[in-house]
Amino acid sequence: MPSDLVIVYHRQPYEEVVENGKTKFKENASPNGIVPTLKSFFGSVEHGAWVAWKLAEDTANPDFERVVEISDSYGDYSVSRLPLTADQVREFYHVTSKEAFWPVLHGFRERYNYDPVDWPNFREVNWAFAEAAAAEAAEGAVVWVHDYNLWLVPGYLRQLRPDVRISFFHHTPFPAADMFNVLPWRKEIVASLLACDVVGFHIARYASNFVSVARSLFDVEDIVRVRVDDDFISEGTALTERTQPTHIVHNGRTVHISAAPVGVDVEYIKKQAALEETADKVVSIREEMADRKLILSVGRTDYTKGGTVQLESFGRLLDAHPELRGKVRLMHVSVSANRNMTAYAEVQDAIELAAGRINGKHGSFDWTPITLISRAVPFSELVAYYQAADVCWITPLADGMNLVCKEFVASRQDEDGVLVLSEFAGAAVELNAAVITNPYSYRSMDSAILQALNMDRAERRDRMKTLRQVVEKYDIRAWGREQERAFELAAAGRTAH
Ligand code: UDP
Repeated sequence: MPSDLVIVYHRQPYEEVVENGKTKFKENASPNGIVPTLKSFFGSVEHGAWVAWKLAEDTANPDFERVVEISDSYGDYSVSRLPLTADQVREFYHVTSKEAFWPVLHGFRERYNYDPVDWPNFREVNWAFAEAAAAEAAEGAVVWVHDYNLWLVPGYLRQLRPDVRISFFHHTPFPAADMFNVLPWRKEIVASLLACDVVGFHIARYASNFVSVARSLFDVEDIVRVRVDDDFISEGTALTERTQPTHIVHNGRTVHISAAPVGVDVEYIKKQAALEETADKVVSIREEMADRKLILSVGRTDYTKGGTVQLESFGRLLDAHPELRGKVRLMHVSVSANRNMTAYAEVQDAIELAAGRINGKHGSFDWTPITLISRAVPFSELVAYYQAADVCWITPLADGMNLVCKEFVASRQDEDGVLVLSEFAGAAVELNAAVITNPYSYRSMDSAILQALNMDRAERRDRMKTLRQVVEKYDIRAWGREQERAFELAAAGRTAH
């Protein structure tokens, strides 16, 4: 059945489980996260489709149905599963996307690895995604493509289906031309993005950077800029931009540029936070902590997250402030997602080494300064830690948005707790009521955590109140509305041409 909305996202939108020899599609256990958010868009169209990959030994004869029909609480939709071999997945996702694109997107030029990239494979996989999307889209449908591993899909799709509206959202940062143009395939990638009707980003800086890249490679005209809403101006911080582009024209076609930060599902988090079992867990964490302060840090193990930089700052805090020894504890959750990738294994080792050193230097039989957790903490439990923490310490070196800091704020109905946030997280342009810190400065890192630990109740309440207003205003629904608005703008723009 042709679909009015086709979402192209590399992962399938459910968990596939085998029960009694039969394959069943289960809704993701937690409604938290981007996948349920995207699925909720199916509620506003007659029929939707989702395109993702699925592992197959023989892609010409996969041992599964290519397209399945799903009915769940989000509505009825088709899921088109693109058969890819393990090698294709490794090449397109783990090598090209993670070793070449990811470091450049986050500004780590020295980590960029060109040699192993199999570009023809990347093209092939992206072409297959575009074909699958073209097969599902109704006349004039919106095709919504997500993230850099599918950068070439818009260009291919435009060739296959000139009638559809294409919107592309970047969940990562987008660097300026000086950094982006490290990629040798830059022209091909940007040409594909210029085939979109809407190119979306979290914040104005990434949108401006994209336009700077497009200008460096192509003749683009009519760069209209508007003032950034005051809500997204965090005075003097690294990622704040005061104007943003709204559209550019290339080869007579208008490409809308959108900047809207992904938010969190505040209602869902509030419900989780209000559960009795969450409250019980909070009590037991607080009992365990006694009169000690809990600093909480949560993220993936990735060099962009700056795990060791943070641990070292904590070590310096204990060196310089003997009165804090035995009085604070850092729970550092660093989930290792890609243990088999050398770059991530190195980061994990460095984190373990740093935490071990500090614990060895300062710890005692009854006090361990750092609790390092490398496994994922279930979200329901995480909410209890968010509520029990005195400080949430989020200090990435680069981060497209960062949802953990927004989840922490959404969990704090008690209007207490201090957020210390890196100015290099996209969220920092909204959350200027946090204690903003620069992870590239020892002084800034060390003074920010000290300020947070010493902050009095009145200031904590004032800051948390402001943070909560922002997180509620720009929740996941606000992001959804902004995306819909951009689709409509694109439709109006196309009929005008
Ligand atoms: N998360 C989780 N358990 C963990 C660590 C993280 O459920 O132990 C979730 C967290 O709640 C958040 C997401 O993983 O929703 C991380 O999103 P974020 O934008 O902060 O970082 P990303 O990993 O996307 O860079």
